Amino acid sequence: MAEELSNAAADAATSDSPSGESASGGQYVVIARRYRPQTFDELIGQGHVSRAMAGAIESSRVGHAYLFTGARGVGKTSSARILAKALNCINGPTTTPCNKCEICQDISAGSDVDVLEIDGASNRGVDEIRQLRQNVAVRPSRARFKIYIIDEVHMLTREAFNALLKTLEEPPEHVKFIFCTTEPEKVPITIHSRCQRFDFAGIATAAIVDRLASICETEGIQAERSALEIIARRAAGSMRDGQSLLEQVLSCCGKELTSEQLHRLLGTASGKRFEQLVSHLVERDAAGALTELDAAVAEGADVGQMLEQLLGYFRDVMAAGVGCPTTAYLHATSGDEPRVKAAAEQLGVETVLAIMQIVDHTLARLRLSTHARTLVEIAAVRICNLENLEDLSTLVAAVRSGAVATAPTTSSAPGQRLPPPARSYTSRGPAPAAEQKKNNLADASVGAAPSHDAAETTSDSPPDSSSTSPDAPAAAAEPIELTSDNAASLWQNALDGLSDLVADQAALADGVTLAGPRRLLVRFPRKYNSCKLFCERPEQAATLVRRLAEVVGGVVQLEFAVDEANSEPTSVPPPMSARARTAERAQDPFVRRAMELFGASSIRVDEPSS
Ligand SMILES: [Zn+2]
Repeated sequence: MAEELSNAAADAATSDSPSGESASGGQYVVIARRYRPQTFDELIGQGHVSRAMAGAIESSRVGHAYLFTGARGVGKTSSARILAKALNCINGPTTTPCNKCEICQDISAGSDVDVLEIDGASNRGVDEIRQLRQNVAVRPSRARFKIYIIDEVHMLTREAFNALLKTLEEPPEHVKFIFCTTEPEKVPITIHSRCQRFDFAGIATAAIVDRLASICETEGIQAERSALEIIARRAAGSMRDGQSLLEQVLSCCGKELTSEQLHRLLGTASGKRFEQLVSHLVERDAAGALTELDAAVAEGADVGQMLEQLLGYFRDVMAAGVGCPTTAYLHATSGDEPRVKAAAEQLGVETVLAIMQIVDHTLARLRLSTHARTLVEIAAVRICNLENLEDLSTLVAAVRSGAVATAPTTSSAPGQRLPPPARSYTSRGPAPAAEQKKNNLADASVGAAPSHDAAETTSDSPPDSSSTSPDAPAAAAEPIELTSDNAASLWQNALDGLSDLVADQAALADGVTLAGPRRLLVRFPRKYNSCKLFCERPEQAATLVRRLAEVVGGVVQLEFAVDEANSEPTSVPPPMSARARTAERAQDPFVRRAMELFGASSIRVDEPSS
């Protein structure tokens, strides 16, 4: 929404009457125009361009054609005008045009007879360019150079480019071309090669904030810096967007600008509200998150905007998580920094990535849905239900030392045959942490060569309380010995304690056997190869290994395989009636779960067409 608004404002800025007069002249001129940079020094964030231009003018080596590229609102057209003034000013050519003489003022206003600004989008045909070529031959009427500024030059047709090329090959001495484009890749290489190209960078948020602050000061407006930061971040590197948004906000707020007002206007959640929402998400408190969302909506926040806010926030958490300094934060305001760091430490990078993925997917779906609020609520609950995808080795270490006492946060499966794992172990005393970690790193590689180390350390270590027999049920305080007899039932126990998708997929395995000491082989029917591939994914395999470790009381390695079903003679199973097939498929755990979830019944079976 705000994007549209700022676009509209930007359009208003450009379509406004081309008058350079100030507001006192009776005609209102928008901020973006009034505060357009007039000299190379005033050009913000494009130091490399200013320096190169000034150097060329001082050494009288100004080229005959320039290509200015960069995103919208970063100063391309402004620079073109400054260059035109520098060349044509009555005191010029000079690096500091006077901005007082008639020529300078006319160029600033876009109405100079010798500086022609052409909009490539509306003059894109070959006829317009032919016209231009005829005019090129005519000498400038009062200044040194005839200067053509063609905006959005990439919009020209191929024929128009060809016509232009002829002029570019042998331009008259008195002609300069300045092409501006947001999409340089659409400009033919033949044009490129005849131009000096300058790439305009996006403008740093801090620089935009400074500029907006100075504008507010000049306009006599009291603006909170945090409010200007919000505007500048939203402008995403475009000074013009920032100024247009400021203008729009000021038209509603009057002479005082606070961040609260701004949040209301933009449909974003206010600082405090957002902060609490994030903290609920980080703490995995779904109810709290939904309450906070509800309150934000009641205050006028837009759920889509909040989702954008979340994406930005977790982007910074991710940056913090991988070790970037606070200067790398793009969205967090200065007050947020400690919280961003804390969230990064609490969640771990993997979890943050998973959260961002959820938010990003939801944003994509939001555009196609009329149930925006529900989608955002789903995203919040999914985030709260995410397990911490921390480094597996840390987890395994925790399990072994007995430190992990909690079942997975979402565990609520009925019929859990084991007592909660929390009561299954006792601490085996503090092990030397470093050594422990080293062992566990080796164990942690799921599906890798079996580490005998793991089996030995686990099974050989004598029990502290010697009375427990190895065959004791799971309630025993010691790890359970994994045998070919109990492998399948322990596997089932592990799955029963999981309510994730991975449990449903893993349940489709048709056999679990002991493949070595503390090592299980999980076999899938050929038709469930996709389930096998799913379970093999690192996060999913980690979930399974961890859950098994909770049930068994020690690290169990997992291997996945697919049964070669082709070895079975295909003629043996008698062809099933459609009804029998439907009934059979309805027993499939995945289908059953889906039916429970949606209150559905099974009507028909469609075989995948492979
Ligand atoms: Zn001048």
